[in-house]
Amino acid sequence: RPADGIRRASRLQRACVPSKAKQSTPGRSVYAWAPLPAALGFADPLHSTGIAHTLFNVERLLEVLDVMDDPSALEDALQKYFRRLACEVDLLDRMISLAYRQTHDFEAFATATMPYFAAATSCELRAPTSLASPSSPDAFLLADDAKFLAALEAIESVANSTSNLDPCPTQTVADFLAPFNQVGLFTPKTPNMYRYTATKG
Ligand SMILES: Cc1cc2nc3c(=O)[nH]c(=O)nc-3n(C[C@H](O)[C@H](O)[C@H](O)COP(=O)(O)OP(=O)(O)OC[C@H]3O[C@@H](n4cnc5c(N)ncnc54)[C@H](O)[C@@H]3O)c2cc1C
Repeated sequence: RPADGIRRASRLQRACVPSKAKQSTPGRSVYAWAPLPAALGFADPLHSTGIAHTLFNVERLLEVLDVMDDPSALEDALQKYFRRLACEVDLLDRMISLAYRQTHDFEAFATATMPYFAAATSCELRAPTSLASPSSPDAFLLADDAKFLAALEAIESVANSTSNLDPCPTQTVADFLAPFNQVGLFTPKTPNMYRYTATKG
């Protein structure tokens, strides 16, 4: 407990997508810096994504450092880095708020966390054993996978539908996530516990 008592903090959530530097220096990238995920955006600790997200993007930053001596390639790499990171933060925000909207009912809440577990396990399965492998996934948690984003949008639209008595029907969500369910989500022997994830399976 702090010596001067517990204090109330202002809102912790933030997203800061930096604008380009006002003027570019000839021969140098117009992007003046590159943030790690926590510096660009933070939504909520619900899924404990901070460390994994950071390490994922450390690897991406190494790719940027690889082209430091080529101004045009550096510009492209940094632009891609910023855009991808912004998409990842946006995806996390969407998955977290989808789950929090269902906190009134435990089963609905568990169902609403499934897009995250489907994305996390699919992303882990796509990760190479070697960091240097060119086949490593491009974005954290399938944030650049059009099919996954479409499935999430469909689930959000069911959850947002006011006419729906069950805003997060488990079977409907399971059907939308089927292509990304590779570790037996929705059907564990011990409900809500997964003995094997992609990394341990
Ligand atoms: C209470 C808490 C619990 C968490 N639990 C989890 C969890 O269970 N799982 C999970 O995945 N994530 C968790 N996180 C999030 C995770 O810690 C962060 O996402 C992660 O540490 C971000 O890594 P980073 O390297 O970007 O920043 P940091 O780990 O914060 O590292 C930044 C470093 O820079 C140093 N620094 C700052 N300014 C300067 C300066 N001017 N000069 C030199 N050094 C400087 C700081 O001292 C710090 O050591 C938690 C965070 C908090 C606060």
